[in-house]
This record gives sequence, C-alpha cells and structure tokens, in this order.
Amino acid sequence: MTLYLPGGTGKELAIGLMGGTFDPIHLGHLVTAEEVRLRHNLDHVIFVPSGNPPHKENRTVSDAEHRYLMTMLATITNPHFTVSRVEIDQPPGTPTYTIDTVRYFHNYFGSNVNLFFITGADAILEIITWKDYRELLSICSFIAVTRPGYSLSKLEDTIGAVCPQALCNIHILEIPAVAISSTLIRQRVAEGKTIKYLTPESVTEYIIKNRLYRPAGTQV
Ligand code: NAP
Repeated sequence: MTLYLPGGTGKELAIGLMGGTFDPIHLGHLVTAEEVRLRHNLDHVIFVPSGNPPHKENRTVSDAEHRYLMTMLATITNPHFTVSRVEIDQPPGTPTYTIDTVRYFHNYFGSNVNLFFITGADAILEIITWKDYRELLSICSFIAVTRPGYSLSKLEDTIGAVCPQALCNIHILEIPAVAISSTLIRQRVAEGKTIKYLTPESVTEYIIKNRLYRPAGTQV
C-alpha cells in the first residue's frame, strides 16, 4: 500500500482505520467511512479487511482474497479511501489482532499521526477481551458505529465497569444505513434474492461471478 498524502505541512495526520470482515462490504460500510471522515476531519480512511479474526473460529468466513477484492472494487472511486493487505497477508492460521495492526500503522506513519479505528459497536463491546486492550485504547481512538435503536447503555455499562477511562476514547456514531448488514446480504444471496442497492454494483457482479454465499450445488 502506498499513500500519497499532503506532506511537509507539519500538520498532524488524522487517519481512519476501517476494520471489519467485509464479507461482503456494503453501502452501510461506505456511508460510515465517509461520514466519519467528514465528522472527524480525517485525511484518509484505510479499509483493513480482517485476516484470521481470533473470535471467528466457529463461522466460515469467505476467502480473504475475495473479501479484499470486493473491498477494492467498492472503494476504488473514492480518492480518500485505500485498502490495506496488512491483516490478510498474515500466514494462514495466525490470529490477527487489532493491536498489531494499529502498531503497524503507527510505525508506517511515524509519530505525527492520530489513528481512529472505526468498527461496529457490537465488536467494540467485546474490546476488553482483545489482546493488549489497555495499550490499544491509549494509542488509538475508537469510533463505535451503531445501527438505529442500538442501546448505548450496553456499551457504557460493559466497558465502563472494567475500564471507565476507556470510554473517553470511544466515540459512538449512529448511521441509519448500517441497518444493511453483511449477514442480510449473505442470506439474500443464499435464498436467490436480489441484493441490488445494498452494495455497489461491481461487488454484486463479483459475488455472482464467483458464486459466493450460494449453497453448494446451486445452479447459476
Ligand atoms: P463482527 O463481529 O463481524 O461484527 C460486529 C458487528 O459490527 C456487525 O453487526 C457488523 O456488521 C458490524 N461491523 C463490523 N465492521 C464494521 C465497520 N467497519 N463499520 C460498521 N459496522 C461494522 O466484527 P468483525 O468484522 O469480525 O470485527 C470488527 C473489527 O474488530 C475487525 O477489524 C477485527 O479484526 C477487530 N477485532 C479484533 C479483535 C482482537 O484484536 N482481539 C477481536 C475482535 C474483533 P457487518 O457484518 O454488516 O459488517
């Protein structure tokens, strides 16, 4: 990944790291990334498709290369968006932890950067179980994206009980379009239903061409 960002201004960079499985990426993710970029005045948003998520051992996740390519297709027209292979290039079977990803980007950008890790509120709810979460919360801000109607007290109670100071570093953002979910898209494809307007057309075409999310043996 090579990024061409304004340099030599002495200004601190603000970079969003959009973490997720993206199986598949959808319009909710794209609206979220753009909204966070504008609200937090970010210079750039880097999508980081997850490699071998330690908490996903019980669910089959699509091949990392498919998820990476769909994320590329979905983001290619936005000059403020880039996709990183940092997690998906980890050796198969090696768990990928957000702390390692955030450390990688701190090294990549040097000290003059503020990192914002953007992901779903349900994932952040579990943050106190993540590797080195105290360090993580001290070197990066978090944007917890919620669907409409999500109970914020759940997040505050769970994290506040264990690590109240962490709440200062977690910003909550409700995005109506996040009512779309990857689960919904996978289910609709499996049932032979249309996914038009839920994800960019190029991603829909990719899913059809590669027969993703279809029960084995299904005819085209
Ligand atoms: P998940 O459990 O699949 O998703 C939880 C919820 O958040 C789902 O409703 C999901 O909706 C939504 N979501 C996920 N990413 C989102 C995003 N970028 N923007 C808006 N909503 C999002 O979570 P996950 O995708 O596996 O994990 C999220 C991130 O946390 C990943 O980067 C993962 O590596 C990291 N993580 C790290 C650790 C660790 O370091 N130990 C542990 C767990 C997770 P959709 O399905 O529609 O996306």
